[in-house]
Amino acid sequence: GAGGPAGRAPHIIAIANQKGGVGKTTTAINLATALAATKVRVLVIDLDPQGNASTGFGIAREARRQDTYRLLSGDLPLSQAAIPTQVPGLSIVPAGVDLAGAEVELVATEQREQRLTEALGAATGAGVDYILIDCPPALGLLTINALVAAHAVLIPLQCEFFALEGISHLMRTIERVRGRFNPALAIQGIVLTMFDKRNNLSDMVAQDVRSYFGDKVYRTVIPRNVRVSEAPSHGKPVLLYDVGCAGSKAYIQLAGELIRQHRTLAA
Ligand code: ADP
Ligand code: MG
Repeated sequence: GAGGPAGRAPHIIAIANQKGGVGKTTTAINLATALAATKVRVLVIDLDPQGNASTGFGIAREARRQDTYRLLSGDLPLSQAAIPTQVPGLSIVPAGVDLAGAEVELVATEQREQRLTEALGAATGAGVDYILIDCPPALGLLTINALVAAHAVLIPLQCEFFALEGISHLMRTIERVRGRFNPALAIQGIVLTMFDKRNNLSDMVAQDVRSYFGDKVYRTVIPRNVRVSEAPSHGKPVLLYDVGCAGSKAYIQLAGELIRQHRTLAA
């Protein structure tokens, strides 16, 4: 869609979990791609100084000078910080080298928790339907900025023994953000990642998570799939690398669930 006179606002989702390696970036890249494939316009914000989402989309180093750091510092408007990706309808604000210092620098700035909210305000009326924010593996100021700017949080949980460890800390952080900055912040959903059907533990963890979070857990489970882990080294979302693999199918299904969920909420 082309935005429209009403100044339609995008739906902003923070993909967060302070644990590293649980599938945040993989979910950001591939959910964004699957959403874009349904003809909605998607923007990814790479908020992790490691820049894995930018790498996963094949964004060259030189193209990262206009990055999330400059967006947060107010140095660049969103319209200039967002660059197209190889996926039609999908753009990204990449993470450059300076983002590593942002956490420290932000501490001393005014309204330090609301820098991203302010920057993303420009997306309203710009024709963007979804903004997915790929958070770093920490609950510092960068993730707080994402939680303050977002309508909802999507939490990837890896199907392994300590999946729920640290979740209460994340939930408390969400509560605090609700209390101080963003009362309407919702839980978009929990997505189980790296599910291994040959491993009984995966099943046990999945059951555990479902009994804890109930219907907040998506029916779609992302399988552990070698194609998913290979795709980033080719600078491609798995949907462009191997659209028929189990990982691609799962992310397409997850996008479908999210869109239906969104329609139901809007109705
Ligand atoms: P995070 O962003 O939470 O740190 P990543 O998305 O980078 O986690 O995933 C951690 C590692 O696991 C990466 O090497 C990624 O390629 C791999 N990975 C993620 N999801 C899958 C999957 N479904 N199947 C196989 N490997 C995966
Ligand atoms: Mg990551």
